[in-house]
This record gives sequence, C-alpha cells and structure tokens, in this order.
Amino acid sequence: MGNKFIQKETAIIHTGYDSLQHHDSLSIPLYQTSTFVFPSAEQGERRFVGEEQGNIYSRLGNPTVRILEERIAELENGSSALAFGSGMAAVSAALIHVTKTGDHVLCSRGIYGCTFGLLNMLQEKYNISHSFNAMSTEQEIEESIKPETVCLYVETPINPTMEIVDLELVCRVASRHGLKVIVDNTFSSPYLQNPLDFGADYVLHSATKYINGHGDVIAGLLIGKDAEDMMNLRLTVQKDIGGIISPFDAWLILRGLKTLHVRMDRHSENAQNLVAFLQSSPLVDQIYYPFDPAHPQYAIAKKQMKSGGGLISFTIHGGKEVAQFLMNSLEMIKIAVSLGDAETLIQHPATMTHSVIPETEREQMGISNSLLRVSVGLEHVDDIRADLEQAFTKVENHLAETVQN
Ligand SMILES: *Cc1c(COP(=O)(O)O)cnc(C)c1O
Repeated sequence: MGNKFIQKETAIIHTGYDSLQHHDSLSIPLYQTSTFVFPSAEQGERRFVGEEQGNIYSRLGNPTVRILEERIAELENGSSALAFGSGMAAVSAALIHVTKTGDHVLCSRGIYGCTFGLLNMLQEKYNISHSFNAMSTEQEIEESIKPETVCLYVETPINPTMEIVDLELVCRVASRHGLKVIVDNTFSSPYLQNPLDFGADYVLHSATKYINGHGDVIAGLLIGKDAEDMMNLRLTVQKDIGGIISPFDAWLILRGLKTLHVRMDRHSENAQNLVAFLQSSPLVDQIYYPFDPAHPQYAIAKKQMKSGGGLISFTIHGGKEVAQFLMNSLEMIKIAVSLGDAETLIQHPATMTHSVIPETEREQMGISNSLLRVSVGLEHVDDIRADLEQAFTKVENHLAETVQN
C-alpha cells in the first residue's frame, strides 16, 4: 500500500494492509496455503519471469507474510524486509548474504550465543573469520579492521551486560571503510531504536521476543535500506536456503505487533521502577540498565533509544549458588530464557544462554556466575517487586543459616 503515517504507533496498526483488497475484513486474513493458482498457463509463465506481479508459492512470498514484511520495513525506516522462521534464520541469512570465503566480520564485544556458534561454523567450514571489539572509540574500531573485513556486526544493548554500542560512531567508521553494518535490534524493538537512521545497512530481530510479545512464536525479521539488494537476498539466500516463516506465525506476529508501543512503554516503565528497587537491596551488587543514569553509557543510550526497555541484569553477592537460590525462591517470576513476554522471566546467563562460551571468555565479556538477567513483564510492578523482595528475604535467611552452621 505504501501509506506513510506520521507516528510509529499508527504504522504499527495500519501499515501494509487495505481491507478493501481483502473482502473488507478488518482483521488481516491468514493465507494458510503452500501454493497459488495461476489464472492461465501464460500468466504462470509471466509470474515466473517477473513480468507480472502475483503469487506463486509460499516460499517465494505469501500475502499474510508480505503484510508483516511491509509493516516492519516501515517501522524500521527501511525499504523492505524479509520474514524468517527464526531469529537465527534472519541472522544467518544476513551474514551469508554479506560474506564469502576469506572475509572477516568484526563483532561487538558481546553477541547472541547462537550467533557466536554460527560465526564459529562459518569460520570452520568456509574460512570466514571474525573477531570482537568493544567499539567504544573510532580508533579502537579502526585498529581491528583488516583488509578482508567486510562487515561490522553489532548488538546494542549487548546481551546480557547491557553495554551500549554507539551506532552513529560505528556507522561513521564503517562508511569510511566501505563496510556493511548489521545490527541485531531484538532488545529494543523498532519502537525504541532504529539503527538504519544512524546509517546501518541491515537491522534484524528475533521477532520471537518483543515484536510478537506473547511467547507463542519463534520467528525472525531482516530489514534493509536498499530495496534492490533486499530483493536479491529474497531470491537467493531466502529462496534457496529456505528459512521462511509460516503464514500462521506471521499472522500471530501481526496480531501481537498491534500493541508493541503500549507494551514497550510499560516494559520500560516497570523496569525503570525495578531498577530503583534493586539499587536499595543490599544483596545486589551491580545493576545494568541502559537508562540508569549510573550506566557508563547512559548518554549514548539516551541518544539512540527512546526508553531503556524491559531488560535488567544485576549481580548478586555470593555467586552461582546464591543466584540459583534466589531464582528458586521466586513465586510469580518464571525461570526461563527468552524475553519480551507479558510474564516476567529470570535467567542465569552463565549456566543458560551463555553456557556454551568458555568460562574465561565469558568472564571477559562481563558474564560472571553472579549475573542474573530479568525480562521485566507487564504485571503490576508492585507484584513483580514484591516477588523479588520475598525472594531476597529468603536468600538473606538462607545466608544467615549457612553462617550459623
Ligand atoms: C533470541 C535472540 C536471537 C535468536 O532468535 P530466535 O528467534 O531464538 O532464533 C538473536 N538475537 C538476540 C539478541 C536474541 O535475543
């Protein structure tokens, strides 16, 4: 449709859909079909050579999926988008698209565990190397760029340490060297941060998280700024590797997406409130939250994010045993990986999401055994705080007993 709305809140609800073209249905129809019928043999031929617009086969495109792709492209201020069957399918499509044997990828200091696994596989099988960099100054980035570097792969905020990478800085250095920038924007969602605005070439999401927001779908999205390049990606990597999304999952995401702005505002508000509570707890050592004024990169976070989002990490005095005791003491908050759901979730990165990373490397990334990550949900903040409070009390009693014995 190409309709542009002034505000994201409106685009979240309307972009890419015209009821008049779908039997006047207010809700977006689910085209749960694998293939499409050609009106004639000649039209089938024309669709295959691209002379006629129209559907062919759902791996090449599906009307429900297309609405999601159009909507998300608009929300990220990109030209077009592709939907995938998982966040990792989007990550791998982006990396396979921009690299070839012999190339090098420069990554931010922390990246998602499976992205790390993928890069190791690309290194072993295809001799595509990678290295990590804090990316905190121009000089630091420049020193790590090699003749064979083709792209900067960035996550910000970094999982789970909430370090911020300055997108404007990274994109400036990348463009000077003709390098592509890929940003994993899962933690912020397109409502809080838009990396293409700072000069990134690709943005990707695990739509499993905030975009769907209801914990019932695994999916990924990849948005690009150049429409022709994205069409090329669609017709090569996506078509031939085939990591597409099912129409039903696209439909569920479109349904979840409608409330993204309302949810994100509440996630951030609840998180901001809990940060204050955690600061007052004697058991908590360090707190990592982008919009905490004590965060060392608070100014950069404010520059590129609309609000702090729903993820808080913190360290607890006493290491792994105490961390696990705290988790087991919670009553409402669920022990689970993933994030961005209505339910508040807690996980222990060292033994869960980041357990595949060798301990020394993990410690260097700031992921100690005392670190916990909370995905703050949409419950009333008083109930979330009360659950943490009662669990802290249990930990204190437990510690007092252990000292006595
Ligand atoms: C979950 C996640 C992914 C992977 O997405 P899946 O949908 O689980 O495949 C990638 N990056 C980040 C930051 C994530 O949180």
